[in-house]
Amino acid sequence: MLESTDTLLNALLTAPPESFSAALFWMLPGLIVGSFLNVAIYRFPIMMQRESENYLALENDDQPPHTERYNLVLPGSACTGCGHALSVADNVPILSYLWLKGRCRYCHAPISARYPAVELLTAALSGMVIWHLGSSFAGLSALLLLWMLIAMTFIDIDTQLLPDELTLPLMWLGLLVNLDGTFVPLRDAVIGAALGYLSLWAVYWLFKLVTGRDGIGYGDFKLLAALGAWLGWMMLPVVVLLSSAVGAIVGLSLIVFRGHHRDRPIPFGPFLAAAGLIALLFGQPLLHAWLGS
Ligand SMILES: [Zn+2]
Repeated sequence: MLESTDTLLNALLTAPPESFSAALFWMLPGLIVGSFLNVAIYRFPIMMQRESENYLALENDDQPPHTERYNLVLPGSACTGCGHALSVADNVPILSYLWLKGRCRYCHAPISARYPAVELLTAALSGMVIWHLGSSFAGLSALLLLWMLIAMTFIDIDTQLLPDELTLPLMWLGLLVNLDGTFVPLRDAVIGAALGYLSLWAVYWLFKLVTGRDGIGYGDFKLLAALGAWLGWMMLPVVVLLSSAVGAIVGLSLIVFRGHHRDRPIPFGPFLAAAGLIALLFGQPLLHAWLGS
C-alpha cells in the first residue's frame, strides 16, 4: 500500500517509475482476461440457473432438464443472435469488434458495445493496479481481486445477484493473501471480514424495520466481508462512505433523468466493488486526508 504522507494529489499522481512499463505490459493480459470475463459474466448466471433447475428436478424424481455440458469453457463461443460458432478471428479482444464494425460476421446482428467496453476497462484498470502496486505479489494478487470485482459488478447489474460462488472464495482469498500481511496484518483482515458482514447486516435489518422493505441483498454483506478481508477493518468506513455517496448520486440521477422507478432496486454491488478498488489504490492517502494526519 502507499505509505505516502504527501498531499492527497501528490499521492494519487506519484508511483515508482519502473511500475509504468510494468503497467503498460500488464494491459495486454488485462485485455485477454477482459475477454474471458465477458464469457464468465454471461455464462455464470446461466450455469447457476441450470444447476438449481437440475437440483429441483432431482428433488421431484424427474430427469434433470440440463445434461449437456455448459461451463466457462464449453461449448465454444457462439453468436447470441444466430448461434453460429465464433472463430478465433471473431474473438480477438477489441480488434474483432472494430474490424466487424460491431456486427456478427454471419447474421449481422449488432454486438453489444459492452463486450469491448469490459475488455478496455479490464485492461486499463489492470494497468492502473500494477502502476500503483508494481508487479509484486501484492500487485498480482490485487489483479485477481480486480478481475473478480469486475465480473461481480456486471453479474449484479444483469441479475441483481452476487453469487456466493464468487463472494465467498474472494473472502477466503483475501484472508490467504494477508497470511503474511501483504496488504494488512492477518488480524485486521479477519476482523475486517467479520465487521464487513455485520455492518451491512445491521443496516439491512434497520432499513427493514423502518421501511418494511429489503434495501440491500445478502450478497452485498458477503462482498463487503470479502473487501474487509483484503483491505482490513480500517478501510471499511472508507468503502461504505464512498459506495453510499456514489450510489446515492447515481441512484438519484437514474430516477430523475432516466425515469427509473423509485421502488425498483438498484444493485449496490457495483458501488461496493468500485469503492473497494478506490480504497485498495488510494485508501491510505484518503484516510490521511480525512483524518488530517
Ligand atoms: Zn450471428
